Amino acid sequence: MKQRIALLGSTGSIGLQTLDIARARSDRFEIAVLTAGTNWQRLAEQAAEFLPDAVVIADEQWYAPLREALAHLPIKVYAGAEAIVQVVRGGSADVIVNALVGYAGMMPSLAAVETGKKLALANKESLVIAGRQIIDAAERNRAAILPIDSEHSAIFQSLVGEVSPARRLILTASGGPFLRTPKDRLCEVTVEQALRHPNWSMGAKITVDSSTLVNKGFEVIEAHWLFGLPAEKIDVLVHPQSVVHSMVEFEDGAIKAQLGTPDMRLPIQYALTFPERPDYGGARFDFARSSTLTFEEVDDDKFPALGIAYECLRRGGTAPCTMNAANEVAVAAFLQGRIGYNDIVRLIERALEKADFAPSPSVDDYIACDREVRAMVSAML
Ligand code: NDP
Repeated sequence: MKQRIALLGSTGSIGLQTLDIARARSDRFEIAVLTAGTNWQRLAEQAAEFLPDAVVIADEQWYAPLREALAHLPIKVYAGAEAIVQVVRGGSADVIVNALVGYAGMMPSLAAVETGKKLALANKESLVIAGRQIIDAAERNRAAILPIDSEHSAIFQSLVGEVSPARRLILTASGGPFLRTPKDRLCEVTVEQALRHPNWSMGAKITVDSSTLVNKGFEVIEAHWLFGLPAEKIDVLVHPQSVVHSMVEFEDGAIKAQLGTPDMRLPIQYALTFPERPDYGGARFDFARSSTLTFEEVDDDKFPALGIAYECLRRGGTAPCTMNAANEVAVAAFLQGRIGYNDIVRLIERALEKADFAPSPSVDDYIACDREVRAMVSAML
């Protein structure tokens, strides 16, 4: 039987690569649902190719043209954020691929695990904001969460077959485009430079997050929730070649790693086909041609965002939600040319100083926190 996929965020970087996998292996996969934020034209093209049961456009102003474009096809068309949650809860999908960006992914992740569906998770912000609720609901409803993020997929792959607990997780970081840029030059960084990632081609938000190391900080929080280790047992190591995707150290000193060329299609497919590993046609890594793999410590002084994320993880409660909301507003403002590069982390720090803190938040508290921090940071711009 084919695996039926509800693909949330099908028009983005992870979404397109998931469709590459589905296209290449149409014998294994079928698309049940596609969703986009605003890009209704691309969504309509994808729907015409994959013929899902339903499509959702989050931004309601594009409902009419999308509906018209698909009028000749037997595809249900919905609009709005709530409709994304509804298609996750209902529908015939076997797996939800959450490739939404940012806070918009939180409620769909929760809906997936609350209904006991397998969640293939790219949207790390879900776990950053509401990790406790998502993990608890997944355990209650026996919903599997399979990471798509390459670092977490590498850790997951390294843990397969182990009965002993991990002693330490080592997340690798490329270091981003400013690894060798002196700290006092970061204030001059342009949008174009921040969007030039050395090894990965990704959506704009995660590319900027990678350059500030906010992304790596979020991955530390994501790893905590996925693998159950405390902050002090999760390390980050700069590895500029992005070949070792992450590592696990065990009590006996053994370290297991997963390596390969930087290609998100591998972790995407692994999340869908686990425990099988079919060929998807990606490039193969050649040790003889890339014989130098290097590792170095993160410069915490130059990249304070990583330490801020660790602190948010230790504080818990709404602190990671505050960091995420402040970062989303700040990155959007940076991309629009309204603030400088260093203002991103400055705004995160100010939001964390000023925002209300709830130590044991409910999902409603996260919704309120996100709204308040967005308003607060928007007023600071
Ligand atoms: P993109 O920005 O490329 O794509 C995001 C997708 O979400 C698009 O389909 C977009 O629609 C949709 N979307 C955006 N805003 C909303 C909204 N408010 N409501 C509903 N849908 C929305 O992001 P990426 O694919 O790069 O990243 C997706 C997630 O995967 C992120 O959490 C990221 O951190 C994570 N990730 C990404 C990697 C990568 O290689 N790209 C690697 C590892 C993790 P539209 O096109 O219409 O705007």
